[in-house]
Amino acid sequence: MQLTDQHEALRRTAERFIESEINPHVDAWEADEIFPAHEVFKKLGNLGLLGINKPIENGGLGLDYSYAAVFNEATGTINCGGIPMAIGVQTDMATPALARFGSAELRAEFLAPSIAGDMVACIGVSEPSAGSDVAAIKTRAVRQGGDYIINGSKMWITSGTQADWMCMLANTGDGPVHQNKSLIIVPLKENGKRAPGVSVGKKLRKMGMHSSDTALLYFEDVRVPARNLIGEAGRGFVYQMMQFQEERLYAALKSAAACERMIAATIDYTGQRHAFGKSILHNQVVHFRLAELATEAEALRALTWKAIEIHVGGGDCTKLASMAKLKGGRLQRETADSCLQYWGGMGYMDETPISRSFRDGRLGSIGGGADEVMLGIIAKYMGTSPGKK
Ligand SMILES: Cc1cc2nc3c(=O)[nH]c(=O)nc-3n(C[C@H](O)[C@H](O)[C@H](O)COP(=O)(O)OP(=O)(O)OC[C@H]3O[C@@H](n4cnc5c(N)ncnc54)[C@H](O)[C@@H]3O)c2cc1C
Repeated sequence: MQLTDQHEALRRTAERFIESEINPHVDAWEADEIFPAHEVFKKLGNLGLLGINKPIENGGLGLDYSYAAVFNEATGTINCGGIPMAIGVQTDMATPALARFGSAELRAEFLAPSIAGDMVACIGVSEPSAGSDVAAIKTRAVRQGGDYIINGSKMWITSGTQADWMCMLANTGDGPVHQNKSLIIVPLKENGKRAPGVSVGKKLRKMGMHSSDTALLYFEDVRVPARNLIGEAGRGFVYQMMQFQEERLYAALKSAAACERMIAATIDYTGQRHAFGKSILHNQVVHFRLAELATEAEALRALTWKAIEIHVGGGDCTKLASMAKLKGGRLQRETADSCLQYWGGMGYMDETPISRSFRDGRLGSIGGGADEVMLGIIAKYMGTSPGKK
């Protein structure tokens, strides 16, 4: 895809902001195991970066997805995976369905302040007993007069301790599992306090993505106005599958950027570190391996941008987005493992960037659809598995 001067100007704006406003604080936020999402998002919102491809009437820039993709690539210059992940939840995971199918009233109430950075959003699909098998979720939203009454729980929720609202997938009917679900906006706070019936079970401790808070949330007789339904009741599974495409494009872009960062950092470190009378990098086995990984990262980037081009053109990018997500998760693991090896003992130290990348990047093959889920989708599109597309 041909990027324009406008794309590159946007990339520079984002990278300058990251260098001055985010990177100086990353180590402290990683140590705190949380970053101040409201503060950071407000600043990003002021620059227009949280609504690049969102409607102008809601405060977005109204540009096509390629511009949002350039911003996603730029967030790869953040010195950790956790903050880009939370930004991605705000822009590409919790809000695409609301922007596409939400009523004008709902968009004014939740999308506009999220684009402005006044509200933090989260996405609630996974549950303690259902992650890969999205259709098996148990949370129920039962219509009672003008409200939905929600009971259930949502697991591994990014920004879950800080978020103001959740884009929740819940069962709203008893029909077939792909037709009985809806996406509902659930406010998690009321007058600055937890909304009645909403509780955060615990902030979960993780192997990586430390600056991002992850939580288990419970919902007990939570009352939400029926107007908080996104689009039509019963279409939630389909809307979520559409919303997943942007999440997967985002994940693939992030993986390519992370691989390139790890390779660059490893070239730098191994060029300075000497053993047996020469730099580590000078060994052919090392620079050949890095050249091979750089080639793979470039191929991943090309595949991802091909999928983005289809998405921008209004086509179905599911097959290529799934391939890119699969390849990204795997390549990130391979690159982190190979690069860390060349850092030797320093690679095993918490303080080095390669160690953080190794921990953060492992999520790529699990979150937003595990590798095996991607393989299942690709096989369906190839016509080699019995399931329907
Ligand atoms: C840090 C973090 C942040 C997250 N943020 C969010 C969030 O904000 N919102 C949200 O909704 N979810 C979130 N998740 C959840 C994430 O999307 C799920 O963990 C993921 O979808 C996998 O689901 P699961 O963990 O239940 O794995 P399971 O479904 O239990 O599967 C376990 C493993 O089994 C294998 N497997 C699964 N299905 C098949 C199959 N058909 N064939 C072969 N093998 C298979 C895969 O290797 C998979 O990893 C987050 C998770 C983490 C760790």
